[in-house]
Amino acid sequence: MSNFAELVQSTRETFYSGKTRPLEFRIKQLQALKQMLEENRHEFHAALNADLRRSKFENYVLEIDYTINEIIHLLRHLKEWAAPEKPTRTFVNALDEIVIYKEPYGVTLIMGAWNYPLQLAIAPMIGAIAGGNCVILKPSEVSVATAKLINELIPKYLDNECYKVVCGGTNETTELLKQRFDYIFFTGSTTVGRIVREASNKFLTPVTLELGGKSPVYIDNTADLTVTVKRVLWGKFINVGQTCIAPDYILCTPEVQNAFVKEAKKIMKEWYGENPQESQDLCRIVSDKHYQRLTAFLSNGEVAIGGQVDPADKYISPTILINVRPSEPVMKEEIFGPILPIVSVSNAYEAIKFINEREKPLALYIFSTTLEDVNLILQNTSSGNVVVNDTLLHMTVDTLPFGGVGLSGIGAYHGKLSFDTFVHPKGCLIKNFNIIGETLASARYPPYSEKKLKV
Ligand code: NAD
Repeated sequence: MSNFAELVQSTRETFYSGKTRPLEFRIKQLQALKQMLEENRHEFHAALNADLRRSKFENYVLEIDYTINEIIHLLRHLKEWAAPEKPTRTFVNALDEIVIYKEPYGVTLIMGAWNYPLQLAIAPMIGAIAGGNCVILKPSEVSVATAKLINELIPKYLDNECYKVVCGGTNETTELLKQRFDYIFFTGSTTVGRIVREASNKFLTPVTLELGGKSPVYIDNTADLTVTVKRVLWGKFINVGQTCIAPDYILCTPEVQNAFVKEAKKIMKEWYGENPQESQDLCRIVSDKHYQRLTAFLSNGEVAIGGQVDPADKYISPTILINVRPSEPVMKEEIFGPILPIVSVSNAYEAIKFINEREKPLALYIFSTTLEDVNLILQNTSSGNVVVNDTLLHMTVDTLPFGGVGLSGIGAYHGKLSFDTFVHPKGCLIKNFNIIGETLASARYPPYSEKKLKV
């Protein structure tokens, strides 16, 4: 037996011992996880900074405090969500009990991505713990420092038999995926998402796949341009575009493009100064591989703003490309970096056609005050989520499902859905031996006379 087979086996034995089932246990573990984040804020910031050279503000808001708030929200509602549901009974079941139990799946595998290495590892884990599952967590190997810290801290705070961390890259993931899990939650690229789905098919393991894609922004001439520029650039350049729901490209008329670029020049100077490389608020490209991939896009279209690079610093300045043709490489794959191409369309109809000719995006952003056009786009396109007149903020609304559709993902989480994702809703019909019920239901037994059909 491989080490991973033994690891999964021993974790499954723990699950079957019933240790994770009592709510008190789950609550204690969630509180311990919260404590881990609170007591190690500084260490997590240092690790995230080492991985991405990211500012304290972004690390606290997008990773540490965001994850703490998810725990607080789940703790507040756990008893209510975990309680068996009693759906309404019809006359036929008047004497029975009808119950939906929230059954934990068992041993879950959670795999995180490097771009928000803390949040994307821990947020799904919160749902899995709350649901009463055991967890094998594999943080991304690309964000080395954060993975190392998670690996050090989880065993210090959480139950060691129920919750385990595995570090490693493609080889380890490949080996892990040969094992039988009861649920797999994967965050990463569509390419690896397919590999995960294929592996899960062997055991028909249910999966959530939180994947990527190209999230479009449509802007028309009725949007408040100053606010639009700020909201689009913030969504794009936070984490230097290494965000799954970052605006990937803009669709607008040439007139809106010119006005956008003019305003963007002003705003970017205000935010990042004359030399953005000196700004402490811009992080860096995570690896040389991604740096090389991104710099190849800079020859697409025309550089209207930015375009500066420094390989030694893995730095690419916030860049806007204009007059980009749809056939260019930057429009073929998810950008995942600080490069924002603008493609011309004449109106909302053309934008809809453009979006529908491509894979379904993870997020779609519409900037307009024309309600008919907003509704037209909403009703004639498909995407994981939509935000009207802003970017990214849907992920902060814990009552909204967060996830993709088509090649941008399967399933959704956050808030109650994080809990629901990790439990099987087990429908139970509980009957008794009451003589009245048996008499009423006895028509079902043979012999099947014509008279019984008329009842
Ligand atoms: P990735 O798919 O390249 O890697 C994810 C993990 O899969 C790696 O850490 C590695 O351990 C493993 N892996 C890589 N290649 C493998 C292979 N051939 N076989 C088996 N395992 C393999 O993703 P990434 O680079 O970590 O993250 C970037 C992607 O994730 C982007 O596409 C982004 O949009 C997406 N993403 C999605 C969300 C979301 O919530 N939907 C969030 C963050 C990132």
